Amino acid sequence: MSGLVAEQAAFLIDVSRLIQFATAEGWVITGGELWRSPEQQEIYYKSGRSKTMNSNHLRRCAIDLNFFWNGKLVWDKELIRTVGEYWESLGPKNRWGGNFKDFVDVPHFERRSSF
Ligand SMILES: [Zn+2]
Repeated sequence: MSGLVAEQAAFLIDVSRLIQFATAEGWVITGGELWRSPEQQEIYYKSGRSKTMNSNHLRRCAIDLNFFWNGKLVWDKELIRTVGEYWESLGPKNRWGGNFKDFVDVPHFERRSSF
């Protein structure tokens, strides 16, 4: 298995753990974007929706999730913090977008990869 495929697979196993954890906490989770084409990344970059052309979405090592509570979509960083901290506790490569310094991205969960 190549290095990148191993990273992608490990990432997805952590995502499955995250969804189970969040569901047990009472959240209803639906899937957003995982893989993103370079063309789509460029659109997001130019529109300001993303601040990088080096997103982990390009490597299938990032996912955006939708969090629902009582049927309402939630974006509040503090309400989702427990889930974000759980994500980062799963491994040293995991970063939650809610903890990004320059561009807070609450629905975003990624695995740092150097590929
Ligand atoms: Zn994202």
